[in-house]
Amino acid sequence: MKFSEQLLVKPGHKVRLEDFDSEGSAHVRDKDHAAEIMKKRTGRLEHLQQVLYAENKHALLIILQGMDAAGKDGTIRHVMSGVNPQGCDVTSFKVPTPIEASHDFLWRIHNAVPPRGMIGIFNRSQYEDVLVVRVHNLVPKKIWEKRYDQINEFEELLTENSVTILKFFLHISKDEQQKRFTERHEDPRKYWKVSASDASERKYWDDYQRAYEVLLSKCSKKHAPWFVIPANKKWFRDLAVAGIIIEALENLKMKFPAHVADGAEVGKS
Ligand code: AMP
Ligand code: MG
Repeated sequence: MKFSEQLLVKPGHKVRLEDFDSEGSAHVRDKDHAAEIMKKRTGRLEHLQQVLYAENKHALLIILQGMDAAGKDGTIRHVMSGVNPQGCDVTSFKVPTPIEASHDFLWRIHNAVPPRGMIGIFNRSQYEDVLVVRVHNLVPKKIWEKRYDQINEFEELLTENSVTILKFFLHISKDEQQKRFTERHEDPRKYWKVSASDASERKYWDDYQRAYEVLLSKCSKKHAPWFVIPANKKWFRDLAVAGIIIEALENLKMKFPAHVADGAEVGKS
């Protein structure tokens, strides 16, 4: 079985997060071995991104979701470390601004979807509109309950227009979250990561887990799959995400354009 299939949420599968591992180990001996493999994957990703950019036929949209301290920022930093910044955009979705809030919930999302040739990374996404919004009743149920179908249709539209979508839920345990919060309080280099809402949101852990289970069950589709990434170990998380992105890009069978553009004679011998 391919590595990606083990972490994939099968379309139609009713997810119980307790059944999903948050540790992960695979065939990796230790951290050093992981670093060795990661180096190769970063290089491979750098190459694939170059072809994606040059060929200019496909876009790749990577969606990262997870509880606070699950490692969304760290994943971006590590997995994309070899990628040319010119070919990659990161968008972090926060509490909607007044302008964003005056539009439909997908307006700001659609605007940030990568064009052909580019990789777009969403740090949080349209899924917040069925997560924080659902947990805290920010809009009436009759509004948010329709959003699962609306998101599925929106993602279908994108994939029918050359966007490859990969969605990663970074799965950490409740204990691991506590450990990371404590580190943030003890390490001066991490104070800035502490947010006033972290402790209050942790009280809603179970509600968030249930909300995640619903969206993972309803919105993992063949064209826009969800992966549950064991994320307690950062090195495993990075290897897994990088591996799945590489596999998806390789499946696109991209090629550097065969000829120079018409009329571009300079440099021809
Ligand atoms: P952070 O990612 O830690 O910078 O936090 C961003 C915050 O914005 C989180 O608390 C999210 O829950 C919140 N957020 C993101 N999207 C939405 C949304 N659509 N509605 C309400 N809150 C949101
Ligand atoms: Mg935060």
